[in-house]
Amino acid sequence: MSELWRDKAKCRDMDVNLFFQDRITSIEAINACLVCPVKEPCLDHALRHEIVGYWGGTTGKERKTIRRKMNIIMQRPEAQKRFIPEVSCGTENGYQAHVRLRRDDSSHQICKACRLAHNRVNRFAKQRKRASNDYFI
Ligand code: SF4
Ligand SMILES: [Zn+2]
Repeated sequence: MSELWRDKAKCRDMDVNLFFQDRITSIEAINACLVCPVKEPCLDHALRHEIVGYWGGTTGKERKTIRRKMNIIMQRPEAQKRFIPEVSCGTENGYQAHVRLRRDDSSHQICKACRLAHNRVNRFAKQRKRASNDYFI
């Protein structure tokens, strides 16, 4: 299916962090998906490609259940499949895979799930460093 639906996404100009919260789903994300005109293609896309994040009114966990019930097999983006069959988006490995892809193709975009995963890893590393510095003072 074409990706044109993204242009009409209710979340287009919203803060992506709202759609990638760690445990609970933000009320802003729930409300946006409720009235989004492209909820259906969004969910269709997410069922096939997105492990984490709130997409088309569903959490990652809910999509897992739907996949199992409907026998849907996840597919990774074509480019990823070619280079790194073992990584998935929403992880630090996924982020590193995007970085490698971007070296070959400067127009390649790092997806929002991977960017957030990478930020999380960085934040955690900084906290750990700070904690160990405090210890030695
Ligand atoms: S359904 Fe939700 S996540 Fe999907 S495009 Fe619309 S607002 Fe964004
Ligand atoms: Zn990604």
